[in-house]
Amino acid sequence: MSQSDDCLFCKIIAGQIPSEKVYEDDTTYAFKDINPKAKVHVLIVPKQHFANVAELAREDSAQLGHIVEVAQQIADREFHGAYRLIFNTGIDAGQTVFHVHAHVLTGETLDE
Ligand code: 5GP
Ligand code: ZN
Repeated sequence: MSQSDDCLFCKIIAGQIPSEKVYEDDTTYAFKDINPKAKVHVLIVPKQHFANVAELAREDSAQLGHIVEVAQQIADREFHGAYRLIFNTGIDAGQTVFHVHAHVLTGETLDE
């Protein structure tokens, strides 16, 4: 599994930094955001390191589709299937960790 030495989320996936796991399979890991912006705020990441969602879409579109499936499963469990899925892409869009991650916001009715 490719890893980036200085990547916070690679370290979380490897268990070198603790996290609150929500879901895990062979390719994908999901954990609670440390600074939640909704009642349920989960980050879903591929175990393989990609910098952003565009790179992921280009190099492994099946993995991107799988991340959407996992988001749906979490929202089915937490809030009758309703959720917001966000991929911040680039510094000026608010991306601070350069290992692609889907923000899943759910668990309550969200403002527009
Ligand atoms: P971005 O701004 O890159 O889209 O999202 C990064 C997210 O990672 C932020 O929502 C931030 O709260 C979360 N985050 C940053 N460091 C940690 C950490 O060490 N543990 C967890 N669980 N979340 C983190
Ligand atoms: Zn990484």
